[in-house]
Amino acid sequence: MAAAQLMDFDKALEMFEPVIGLEVHVELNTKTKMFSPAANPAHADNHDAEPNTLVAPVDLGLPGAMPTVNAEAIRSSISLGLALGCSIAPSSRFARKNYFYPDLGKNYQISQYDEPIAFEGQVDVELTDGTIVTVPIERAHMEEDAGKLTHVGGATGRIQGAEYSLVDYNRAGVPLVEIVTKPIFGAEHRAPELAKAYLATIRDIAIALGISEARMERGNIRCDANVSLRPRGEERLGTRTETKNVNSMRSVERAVRYEIQRQAAILAGGGTITQETRHWHEDTGTTSPGRPKSDADDYRYFPEPDLLPVAPSAELIEELRAALPEPPAARRRRLKADWGFTDLEFQDVVNGGLLNEVEATVAAGAAPQSARKWWTGEITRIANAEGREPGALVAPEHVAALQGLVDEGTLTDKLARQVLEGVIAGEGTPQEVVDARGLAVVSDDGALIAAIDEALAAQPDVLQKIRDGKVQAAGAIIGAVMKAMKGQADAARVRELILERASQA
Ligand code: ADP
Ligand code: MG
Repeated sequence: MAAAQLMDFDKALEMFEPVIGLEVHVELNTKTKMFSPAANPAHADNHDAEPNTLVAPVDLGLPGAMPTVNAEAIRSSISLGLALGCSIAPSSRFARKNYFYPDLGKNYQISQYDEPIAFEGQVDVELTDGTIVTVPIERAHMEEDAGKLTHVGGATGRIQGAEYSLVDYNRAGVPLVEIVTKPIFGAEHRAPELAKAYLATIRDIAIALGISEARMERGNIRCDANVSLRPRGEERLGTRTETKNVNSMRSVERAVRYEIQRQAAILAGGGTITQETRHWHEDTGTTSPGRPKSDADDYRYFPEPDLLPVAPSAELIEELRAALPEPPAARRRRLKADWGFTDLEFQDVVNGGLLNEVEATVAAGAAPQSARKWWTGEITRIANAEGREPGALVAPEHVAALQGLVDEGTLTDKLARQVLEGVIAGEGTPQEVVDARGLAVVSDDGALIAAIDEALAAQPDVLQKIRDGKVQAAGAIIGAVMKAMKGQADAARVRELILERASQA
């Protein structure tokens, strides 16, 4: 396919106003599925399940199998709705959305249609420079996920050109909440950034509530990005495209930016935008047409006859409201002030996804700056090298204990890094690693002085220089002593002792 024409981004913004709308699916981490007792693959315990092992008759749509609603999923959905500032419907119902696809055994998906559980909300989203944008929420509704198809043998991984397809029904019936924004106006050139920040906010809220694993790379959070342009001064909304399943923060920002540039080129050339879904291509950073989509696609929705309406009591709603965590943006502002970090230092922690780790390390007694340095420095470096999450390598209490050993002089920074490696390797607490590996700093001045005297005797010319006032010459002696001590000495103390010995002898 020929590459699409793109208009320069700034020029596109001069001519057109971008309007975006975001649909975000959040997989809940309940123990079991939305409508069946099968274990939920979106729960942390079940990540490694073999295909088609987490399946109950309901998930396959076997004859006579009847769905029942998962109460935990209802609670999670209400909490999420409340965190998004939504009203919770005193009564909402499920609906059948009818369509055929091989990953959908029943030939319909149970969703919510005209009566979602949560509606009319708003959420504050913080851009990188601290600007707060309030995003209006239209609704958040519950539904079940479909299974997963893997198309094998083609070049693209899509069904076109594939030799055969594999179906995994583990995901069929995973509880989802779909959050739909109203059209978002006024973001202008920051529309792509806002889309990314909105997604991050939803992720942070889901994590704070503990209702989802919230890992985008695992598909726990998926985003469809709607984009339209309207000429400056025009009232009527332009025709939108819906780029499906954009599965990273960075991609959603790129996809929105790309669609703005692509649509602007078409509109400026006198063309029209086709209302359609589009696919996002991570490798090329482009979108391509999916299927045409009208606003009135007829899925023959009708109320699900096998399920009663969901009617949460006012007490339950208030109980969940009272248990809501601090909103993520407010929490970030509070922690930044408490810790006294610069913008850059704080961004490092946030971008590394290390807020919880630093907070727990500070709570365990470390100074905020020390906690930050360990997590964004050495621990992240090791995690990147091993392809693991920093938080999975070492417990915050151990990081605090390690820093405690540095602060009391038992370890130098360098020794502490070796101890960290031991802790990560599972050799025990920092103190246990120090004991087992014999890594403590030699704080016995007698042993240091013996090594210093030996080094001075071996390098009389250096001794003479020091005596002549060229104190920087002491570096050579420090080096020799550190080597003799296998690095287990405090260099500042060694330096002090060298100057003392040189002036005496
Ligand atoms: P669909 O069934 O097409 O997914 P939804 O109502 O679930 O429809 O979601 C449509 C999304 O697109 C919403 O976020 C909505 O605010 C947004 N939207 C609707 N019209 C436009 C438009 N002209 N430009 C940009 N976004 C739009
Ligand atoms: Mg939709």
